[in-house]
Amino acid sequence: MNMANINDILPLVEQPSRYLGSEINSIKKDYNNIKLAIALAFPDLYEVGTSHFGLQILYHILNRHENIAAERVFAPASDFEAYLRALKMPLLSLENQKPLKEFDMVGFSLLYELNYTNVLMMLDLAGIPFYSSERDLSYPFIIAGGPCACNPEPVADFFDAIVVGDGEHVVVEMARAWIKWKDSNYNSRKILLKEWSAIKGVYIPSFFEAKYDNKGFQTVLPVFNGQPRVVRSIIPDLENAPFPDMPVVPFGRPVHDRVRIEISRGCTRGCRFCQAGMIYRPVRERSVENIIDLSNKSIRSTGYEDVSLLSLSTTDYCSLSYLLEKLMASYEAKHIAVSFPSLRAGSLTPDLVNLVKKVRKTGFTIAPEAGSQRLRDVINKNITEEDIISSVNTALGMGWQVIKLYFMIGLPSETDADITELIDLVYRLRKERIRKSSSINVSVTTFIPKPHTPFQWNAQNSLDESSRKIERIKKALNISGVHFKWQNPKVSLLEGLWARGDRRLGKLLVNAYGKGCRFDGWSDKFRYDLWENAIKDTGVDTDFYLLRKRSISEPLPWDHIDTGVSKEFLICELEKAEKAEKTDDCRNQCSSCGVCDFTRIKPKICCYSVDSTESGIVETKEKQKHYKKLIINYSKLGPARFFGHLELINIFLRAVRRAGIEVGYSEGFHPMPKISFEDTLPIGIESVCETLFLTVTEYTQPEIITKKLNEELPEGLCVIACKECVPEEKTNSLKIYSYEVTLMCGKLCNEHLKIYEMSDKLEIEKTNRKGKRKFINLKEVIKTIRMESNSRLKMTLSNESGNMVRPADVLKKIFQLTDEEIKTARVVKLGAPI
Ligand code: SF4
Repeated sequence: MNMANINDILPLVEQPSRYLGSEINSIKKDYNNIKLAIALAFPDLYEVGTSHFGLQILYHILNRHENIAAERVFAPASDFEAYLRALKMPLLSLENQKPLKEFDMVGFSLLYELNYTNVLMMLDLAGIPFYSSERDLSYPFIIAGGPCACNPEPVADFFDAIVVGDGEHVVVEMARAWIKWKDSNYNSRKILLKEWSAIKGVYIPSFFEAKYDNKGFQTVLPVFNGQPRVVRSIIPDLENAPFPDMPVVPFGRPVHDRVRIEISRGCTRGCRFCQAGMIYRPVRERSVENIIDLSNKSIRSTGYEDVSLLSLSTTDYCSLSYLLEKLMASYEAKHIAVSFPSLRAGSLTPDLVNLVKKVRKTGFTIAPEAGSQRLRDVINKNITEEDIISSVNTALGMGWQVIKLYFMIGLPSETDADITELIDLVYRLRKERIRKSSSINVSVTTFIPKPHTPFQWNAQNSLDESSRKIERIKKALNISGVHFKWQNPKVSLLEGLWARGDRRLGKLLVNAYGKGCRFDGWSDKFRYDLWENAIKDTGVDTDFYLLRKRSISEPLPWDHIDTGVSKEFLICELEKAEKAEKTDDCRNQCSSCGVCDFTRIKPKICCYSVDSTESGIVETKEKQKHYKKLIINYSKLGPARFFGHLELINIFLRAVRRAGIEVGYSEGFHPMPKISFEDTLPIGIESVCETLFLTVTEYTQPEIITKKLNEELPEGLCVIACKECVPEEKTNSLKIYSYEVTLMCGKLCNEHLKIYEMSDKLEIEKTNRKGKRKFINLKEVIKTIRMESNSRLKMTLSNESGNMVRPADVLKKIFQLTDEEIKTARVVKLGAPI
């Protein structure tokens, strides 16, 4: 499949830039030198997938090897999927538009159970059979990894191999084994699977058989005389782990659009409901020097102005105050913001409060999880009501306007009294508001007992029970200053089903996909009616998986997956939960969960005090700034026509920063970079005459700025000229643009043009952003219009009447072209450069 086919689709779909694959730091390799091609597949939209840090790590690790090419592929949105099907095109990777089927391996990231139908959609669009047993040597090996791999059974039949645990080393070992296998001219998939099965952390589902006893309980046993359990792969520390310091900078509006530095992996708190807290043990903190070094490199390579410190519990990072001091000393003057995803109630020290004040206030989120102290003790949350109230008070006092609170309903042993306490807690916190304008956002989800946690044996709340509790809270919190959000309990039901399901659920997935289920995690796409039909069709007894309290002697479908946390520990924690007894943070005291051998695998803590004298960064001295405003003329051609205006602002700002050009900022509470664009060109229009204004703090020769920017801009954007701006150039509001239009489908009719030319008035109706309608006479806007052929047209449009229209308006009104004919036309804005 060639580029031309993709170009047929891009003008017709929403957010076309998500399919371009030419982002800064994306890697497009020449296949002449490649032995192994791996597609890194993410079963959700580009905006979600590009925000997944794990995918960036794997992309970076694999592409470091000269003979390996790793390319990305994301689940196409529904409109793109429809075009692929209509044009009988296969799903392609982003970088080289290579059909998925032509890769040697396809690795899916499984982060969320409700993405499973998208895995099938992607295989289907690629023309790859769903079941591993149906794939011969002509198909790639389909592998998976990510947190869902800790119960791989519901999707076990679809994958050749599943990676359990940290993937950094495993994926390289698997790649090496594949190359060796290929070089040896082996003609059996099984030989490679055998090799892979010897790698720690690799599960080969076809080498294990699912057996069911008379009660329907699944036990998974090795088919050959192999190891009965698959042991999780753990990297001993982050310090020496490969890190993507040149991450891909996504186009559009990704969920996370900033530098992300994983400051630690694993959590020591021991919350009993939290699967991540169990399966990522032990805690491994990165050193302050390492974090600063990686952060500086990542900022330089991306041009981002935000750094997020990632971790399961960032405020637990041992040297957080010291780290923030160091980062802020360097970044504050450069307008680089530092943020962290959430704050743990009770962990805000005075030092931290002062530092947090300086970082951008993106939202203050705390997760009490349960409303009553009894229930918080049951789940080992280890925060008190005083912690919650004082954290909220501190945040409000520091100027936060919105406080976000997360709760779960349906936690083990929960009663109506606990729900009452949840409501009371929100009322108490509402009273703490200093300003009437501040608000408390409350989110509630139904608790899902997850494998490898002490609550893996507990029952999940039924749909009715969850709905009843949510209704009650909703009614009680229908008060000013509180916004209540909840997860659809039907979504939670399906999440719970897949989380603790067994291999028999594979047929349900195929059935539901066949009925049209896709993007089940997206509320606008979720079709519970289709799921209900699929459940009925396949005879799956959902109560068996969801509503039963399991006996601790019952075999569990994931018993053959060894995360390192022992079953004895989980049972002990379950018993303590039943007595509402707490377990200490394992930073203070090891609770013998079984993960650490205390030689190679042990907690790695990074302790510095704020008084430490080590300095990993050079502090910036405030200097006198001389502002210069530049006028930059640039072209936007080819693939760049798919960038929307907001995307373009980010693309330019990041290119400017990567080029080392210092931008001027506005004054005030939220200083903004001084950049503005003369025209907001709609998506799909090319131009050879765009203009932007940029204020810089240090004057550099315009030719040097032009050269530096052109080295940093993505394909299709090119600076043509740059000079210092004189005032009249920025105030000229008269705009006269000429355009050339070439139709790819449909025809221009001369008669239509004649009718227009003979008429005195031809109006189009426009609605502005506020919904106000107005009529624009095209006769006053079109200065010239000339057909060069029945597919080519030139026109000049002016705003001197106070109104402006775009070529699409002209094509529609005068030539009566269809939306598709207009969208696929090549429209180029012409003009002389400055
Ligand atoms: S073995 Fe001890 S120190 Fe290691 S993760 Fe488990 S509880 Fe923590």
